[in-house]
Amino acid sequence: GSTIGILGGGQLGRMIAMAAAQLGYRTHIFAPEESGPAADVSPRWTRAAYEDAAALAAFADSVDVVTYEFENIDPSAVETLAHHGLVRPGAQALRVAQDRLAEKRFVCDLGGLTAPFAPVESLDDLENAIDAIGSRAILKTNRMGYDGKGQARLSEPGDAVGAWNAIGRQSAILEGFVTFAEEFSVILARGADGEVRFWDSSANVHVDGILSTSTIPAGPAIAAQVKQARALARKVADALGYVGVLTCEFFASAEGPIFNEMAPRVHNSGHWTIEGAVTNQFENHVRAICGLPLGDTGLAAPRVYMRNLIGDQAGEWPAILADPANHLHLYGKHEARPGRKMGHVTRLGL
Ligand code: ATP
Ligand code: MG
Ligand code: MG
Repeated sequence: GSTIGILGGGQLGRMIAMAAAQLGYRTHIFAPEESGPAADVSPRWTRAAYEDAAALAAFADSVDVVTYEFENIDPSAVETLAHHGLVRPGAQALRVAQDRLAEKRFVCDLGGLTAPFAPVESLDDLENAIDAIGSRAILKTNRMGYDGKGQARLSEPGDAVGAWNAIGRQSAILEGFVTFAEEFSVILARGADGEVRFWDSSANVHVDGILSTSTIPAGPAIAAQVKQARALARKVADALGYVGVLTCEFFASAEGPIFNEMAPRVHNSGHWTIEGAVTNQFENHVRAICGLPLGDTGLAAPRVYMRNLIGDQAGEWPAILADPANHLHLYGKHEARPGRKMGHVTRLGL
């Protein structure tokens, strides 16, 4: 059989590896850590730095296709891999998605709506950006942020210095604060032949910048904007020649769907698809990158609810397991820390 290489060994890599195994593929993880959630289910693991060109080349030669579960990888590493074999999605998707400024410009060029934004390289830039955008804003590092890390909220002009220090005085973007009714994501799979399939859009609730719950069906504010959001997400995928699962996050606002960010990978807000859809995001990602036909993205139940288990909630597992409507997923992480995603629970309903 064939082997899929995965950059990153976290829970997303774990769930990709499980889907790969179901379809008869082996997986080989490449990650700088010694181990991680994907190690339990992947037969091979290479521990090396993303800067290690020789290790990357050896990894690429050991697999039939390379994908990633984590977008904060130096694109030159992905280019090194691409010289040795197939990388899906490709380096351009990674380049755009890992830089908030590039990402917003890319989406604006395609006709998408974003929060007003300005690049910030200095405190001076930040003060000018506040003049232009307003002081109700969020300062975000351009790179490496996830789960709301690397962000500082501003409410008045005097917050500039504190915010600039809080994000470590690095290349950033100031975004106007968007007033939105609800948040949702568009998750699509694009096959090697360009076929695109969408899952239903869940209403996503974030707490402290971290996804807390995803609910299907979403309410009317979201339902009214999904068509327009999908059209944009498809344009993004087509423009990038994308192969695999792509996630675009949106705010449902009075002006229509406002694009927040994209993830060039499977996404936490799609975990509900494991039980809640005919074909889940991990399987369709594997199918896409392996050049197989995509599976049906339709709902397996009329109502689906996913809740993240963050920090130490082990005390709740027995009660979760006692309810037959629940599906418990644990990522095998040894240490529960506050804000750390330890697992999730999906509930199907009528
Ligand atoms: P993820 O884990 O989704 O990658 P992230 O660290 O990249 O998170 P964002 O998605 O940019 O962070 O922001 C996290 C959350 O903060 C959003 O889902 C939203 O709730 C809120 N948020 C972000 N940007 C804005 C904005 N411009 N206006 C209002 N709320 C925002
Ligand atoms: Mg993000
Ligand atoms: Mg986000």
